[in-house]
Amino acid sequence: MVKMKKHTVFILIILMTIAGCSSNIDSEDKNQQSDKYEEVVNSTEDDNLHTGLNIFIESSRRFPAWLSVGKELFMLDSDELPNNIDRDIDVAEWYENVVSKGLPSLCDEWFIPGFIEDNLSEHAHSIAYAFVKHLNDIGHLDELALMYLYDETLWDAERTRASLWADFAGGVSTVSKTVFQYYFEEVFDDIHLAGGNHVDDLDPVPIKLTALTQQAQYYFSTSSWTRESIEHYIEVSEEAITFAGDFLNYHHDEPLKIIVYAPPHSLIEIDGWATFPATGGRYLCDVGATIIMWCVPEQGPSAITHEAAHAILDLSSMRHNNNFPIMEWMSDCGSGYFEEGLCVVIENLFITETLNEQYALTFSQLYFGLNKRVTWDDVVNRVNSNAKWELDNDNLISIITMENLGYENPAQAAKDLPYWELQSYDTAASFILYLTEEKGTWDDFFQVFADINLMEEIYGVGMEGIIAEWREFIRVRPTS
Ligand SMILES: [Zn+2]
Repeated sequence: MVKMKKHTVFILIILMTIAGCSSNIDSEDKNQQSDKYEEVVNSTEDDNLHTGLNIFIESSRRFPAWLSVGKELFMLDSDELPNNIDRDIDVAEWYENVVSKGLPSLCDEWFIPGFIEDNLSEHAHSIAYAFVKHLNDIGHLDELALMYLYDETLWDAERTRASLWADFAGGVSTVSKTVFQYYFEEVFDDIHLAGGNHVDDLDPVPIKLTALTQQAQYYFSTSSWTRESIEHYIEVSEEAITFAGDFLNYHHDEPLKIIVYAPPHSLIEIDGWATFPATGGRYLCDVGATIIMWCVPEQGPSAITHEAAHAILDLSSMRHNNNFPIMEWMSDCGSGYFEEGLCVVIENLFITETLNEQYALTFSQLYFGLNKRVTWDDVVNRVNSNAKWELDNDNLISIITMENLGYENPAQAAKDLPYWELQSYDTAASFILYLTEEKGTWDDFFQVFADINLMEEIYGVGMEGIIAEWREFIRVRPTS
């Protein structure tokens, strides 16, 4: 509900702006913005931080590094410039050189330590200085800086930068699909916020770069990532988010926030529930549409699909329906296992249908121990046999959780839950596979997902009856 409200307010504001409600407000806003800008660029007093970093922080971490650093250098008198700054650097030559090596043009990539080979990035500061000086000369510096401060999505600012840069350095004006931003040495507080009380053991870690795409803002912890692995990770994640959005037929405007921990954050305890030795993720709806991924191996980013599906279900308001109650012992914005089952199915569809060969094979080895690409049959078999095993052995996630929570008779307590057989990832996924592969279409399923009371109308059998049918189906189903 809160989400809906937010959207409504947002739309109203846009309409008001389009209607041009009051030009007084506009110019007042502009004055306020200029004041804020003056504050940012004059905030050079803190002795503990160098000026560029101070400007970056004062800009609410919105200024790119090239602008923060370039501005710092530009504010110095010519004879104060550090020795490594080449006042007369040949920008066109430098640019030609980086383009011929397939490297990005002036962007924050050049300022992130270790991201681009040192011998190539050594001129980045000189380039930043030259570009900022040029922008000032042609009277566009303040205008562009203001865009970085106030452009909500940063994309207009980036487009303007690209065109000004092309005029300056030669070449064509292109905006990359991913815009990297250097976070200097700062600890990113939101990480801890996103962890909140869910991920207590997760200490804040230094984030040195973020990456902005049309779909998400990524924050990478810095351990063991390389430029290549980050680019691959983003590529697969973007594909995964698109896949989940297409499958659920909902496209979000608000970029997701995705925080990515690489190993060695390999053992994480969540609410004292469980320790995850492997890659995993969690969707946190209480801090904005935020996904936190931990222990992400370079090769195994497919789990992002599962979390993206949660995020999209939440943003599309398809999430909180009457299909299963959220138990008190689940986290504040936990989802029912029916939703978990759906996310498991979507994740596996992504892996079998679209994931590129390199990742698909690694996934197959990591999770299936197979030396070939996983097929849909493999997935269905595995989900169904896991479900059967869990039911036969009283080993559903709900039962394990209740055991961890100290219930005296966890199996019995779990069985008091409504539709207890579906209170686990694989049992719910297996049930959904039964509905969508044996009983009807995905459209049928989504009607039931939105309103569980429609079960009998859609499938001709009530909830209890169809659960019994499904249990019998997985009991006798042929295995391949
Ligand atoms: Zn989930």
